[in-house]
Amino acid sequence: MMIRALYIHIPFCLAKCKYCDFNSYPLAVFERTRKRRAENYLAALRQEILLLLKDISLDEIETIYMGGGTPTILDTDQLVSFMEFLKSQLNFSRIQEATIEANPGTVSLEKLLALKGAGFNRISIGIQSLDNWMLGFMGRTHNAEEAAAAVSMARETGWENINVDLIYGLPNQSTGIWEDTLRRVIQLDPEHVSSYGLKIESNTPWGRDYSNNQLSLPEDEVVFYMYETLQSTLIQNGYLHYEISNYCKSQKESKHNSIYWHNEYYLGIGSGAASFYNGKRFYNIKDIDLYMDSLAKGFRPHEEAIDLTLEDQMSETMFMKLRLISAGVNIPDFKKRFGISPIDKYYNEIKKLIDLGLIHIQGDAIRLTQKGIPLANLVFMEFV
Ligand code: SF4
Repeated sequence: MMIRALYIHIPFCLAKCKYCDFNSYPLAVFERTRKRRAENYLAALRQEILLLLKDISLDEIETIYMGGGTPTILDTDQLVSFMEFLKSQLNFSRIQEATIEANPGTVSLEKLLALKGAGFNRISIGIQSLDNWMLGFMGRTHNAEEAAAAVSMARETGWENINVDLIYGLPNQSTGIWEDTLRRVIQLDPEHVSSYGLKIESNTPWGRDYSNNQLSLPEDEVVFYMYETLQSTLIQNGYLHYEISNYCKSQKESKHNSIYWHNEYYLGIGSGAASFYNGKRFYNIKDIDLYMDSLAKGFRPHEEAIDLTLEDQMSETMFMKLRLISAGVNIPDFKKRFGISPIDKYYNEIKKLIDLGLIHIQGDAIRLTQKGIPLANLVFMEFV
């Protein structure tokens, strides 16, 4: 299988949000230290690509995704020159989608113009909420006005593929606050919306508050209502609900993330990044300094490599593709890849889930039903 997707991890943010357990760290506050640290990290990323190229061809790469962290915390010249480096190493004429994640407050008209000129053609803006009290409580470093301004600036500078990230099910978030955020998102008219229900992670400030009974979350019924409101609002406004947590205008599915959801091969570079190729999953060293040390010594920065058996790959393919609401698990494709129909392989599991009304078979595909979408985790458990 070809490797068609390249993920680049930038592990720096302005500050740590209270719910976040991603591999991200506040970047130094002093301008000189900050610039030097970012430069050293970008040099390590370049080195990782050069080392990769000794073993793996990147000629088939079609999508690039620079995520984090907050990539746009880096200076414009650093980001542009990194893209120039990528252009010199990849077959850039094949690139269909190059996404950069951005946070409000770290973009300007000049930066957005330069990033577009450098070759990015999709931007994913972490607005999360459009309620100022909520944003402050989450520890976000921007307010609702800056979030809306970031989307407007992207539009003004010619970006035609804008995603916004939203979170629901937040502590103290009322259904009214959520409905107001959705109403204002519709006015911003992004091409793509990613929206996840909050999951409390134990190693975060909110995780600690929750275990000390200092954080109260909305009841399950309220969270379910928020999910239903999200789905109906976006569908009524012309969006396709194509993945459990993702909605898009026509033809604006995320090509990069679709490669993950189809369980195809991808490469990830940067601290803590994961890759999947040659039937193995690789995890890079998470600690930024140890990651950079490894590359300085000329070693690929792998912390762990896991061999995936065929059984593992079949099971992962089932639950990843079931995430794709409109595409689902294509039965002939599965059979072509693994030599067995998913119906023969998982007969009992599939029958049970059909009887429960959580999945159905239509034509060549197995898909989640409307009832199955919010219960997707229960469905996935059957294939683990
Ligand atoms: S901006 Fe994103 S990656 Fe950075 S701390 Fe907040 S949630 Fe985490």
